[in-house]
Amino acid sequence: MYRTRGEFAADGIGPGNRYGMTASGCGVATLLVRPDCIYISGAVRPDSGAACEGRVVMNIELTSADRAFRDEVRAFLATSLPPDIKRRVENGLELGREDYASWHRILYEKGWVAPGWPVDHGGTGWTHMQRYLYDEESAAASAPRIMPFGVNMVGPVIFTFGNSAQKARYLPRILSGEDWWCQGYSEPGAGSDLANLRTRAERDGDVYVVNGQKTWTTSAHWADHIFCLVRTDPDAAKPQQGISFLLIDMRSSGIEVKPIITIDGGHEVNDVFFEDVRVPVENLVGEENRGWTYAKFLLSFERAGIADVGRSKKQLAGLKRIAAAELSNGRPLSEDDRFREKIASLEIDLLALEYTELRALSRQTSGEEPGTEANILKIRGTEVQQRITELALEAVGTYANPYVPEALKDGWNEEPIGPEYAASVAPRYFNWRKASIYGGSNEIQKGIVAKLVLEL
Ligand SMILES: Cc1cc2nc3c(=O)[nH]c(=O)nc-3n(C[C@H](O)[C@H](O)[C@H](O)COP(=O)(O)OP(=O)(O)OC[C@H]3O[C@@H](n4cnc5c(N)ncnc54)[C@H](O)[C@@H]3O)c2cc1C
Repeated sequence: MYRTRGEFAADGIGPGNRYGMTASGCGVATLLVRPDCIYISGAVRPDSGAACEGRVVMNIELTSADRAFRDEVRAFLATSLPPDIKRRVENGLELGREDYASWHRILYEKGWVAPGWPVDHGGTGWTHMQRYLYDEESAAASAPRIMPFGVNMVGPVIFTFGNSAQKARYLPRILSGEDWWCQGYSEPGAGSDLANLRTRAERDGDVYVVNGQKTWTTSAHWADHIFCLVRTDPDAAKPQQGISFLLIDMRSSGIEVKPIITIDGGHEVNDVFFEDVRVPVENLVGEENRGWTYAKFLLSFERAGIADVGRSKKQLAGLKRIAAAELSNGRPLSEDDRFREKIASLEIDLLALEYTELRALSRQTSGEEPGTEANILKIRGTEVQQRITELALEAVGTYANPYVPEALKDGWNEEPIGPEYAASVAPRYFNWRKASIYGGSNEIQKGIVAKLVLEL
């Protein structure tokens, strides 16, 4: 083991810089974080070429342009986020379709609804860093997230692989929020093993006739359209080769949506049944039987934002407030050594996650392909989200037991059982079990990391 000598400084986040714990081949012994830089004193691999004895300093101060941008976003959120929506997000209350829709409209009018899109199609032209700051500020301000299925998922597929008629028809309505989308990938028997999907689309003149079932379809009960993976060639040599990507109007005759009520009592997901649904062939994206390529392209977008570091920071701050308010042996739980240790360990993991995200950002800024960071971010990001809900459950103790669904609705003004913040803790805990499953289960992500990083 060697120690570094002197200081290593990297100016701002930009091409070539590496953030977090892999810079100069360092392992980390101690990590001290200051507002503008991280001090790392640690073990360095003998082959890294780094000098011995000392410390490593990395400057993560924002550039003045980024600071100005962050202030602009902060000011916009302070004045434009409707207080009732903010309150609902802050208190873990239910959000309705109209909450999401009205925030979408406000962002659309500001021109900020699709930061990831090319400027020609209505994107913001922001740098990766600006997008990161925007997400952070939105989470800190308790803004609801934008429904991802249109803007973050099918939109990029359409502007990348769709024809000009599809771009003209769908993209403006996704941006404005007039059309809501849902994602028809998973089926009973085809989740992790998605290529096993069986929903059939058979060509009949100028339509496809679709039969089958999709499941776990988030927001299908709110959606105007569904983008579906369908099997168009059941005889293809490999299962992936016979799949197509179809855009289907949810008002088509033969579609039935049935709710699936999740363990927290909420209604987010659905079964969607298709019986002889006639879909115009012009709704095929790209080429027939090439849908798997478009499907994988879309999944990389789905996983990218899933770590949600900003929201976890906000949730962690809420957890600390709960720990300060709850008593353990007559003293605030936040002074209990064992509980403090758990929160500290969580916070360290969240910090490490943030630097992994910044490292991924740095790669993107340098024009490199996103690596396995997306998979790692999905795994660790969702683990952190779940641990926050677990500690909150532990903190409120028996007050997590009463289940009062009305308490999660805005305007409910009966006497709460226990502290007001306790009502949403158990539903949130149960609801977040989903995070390690959706977007590709964590076990599957670990398999990918094992193969690509560890070469197992
Ligand atoms: C709340 C929620 C919302 C969702 N929203 C949508 C949506 O809008 N649209 C959509 O299309 N889908 C959606 N999904 C579906 C989601 O993508 C699938 O649930 C997920 O891909 C897992 O598939 P499965 O449920 O079929 O589980 P399975 O694939 O049957 O897996 C069962 C278990 O076995 C493990 N496993 C499976 N294969 C392996 C392997 N090779 N190695 C190790 N472990 C393995 C899995 O990790 C899991 O723990 C949603 C799911 C949830 C929970």
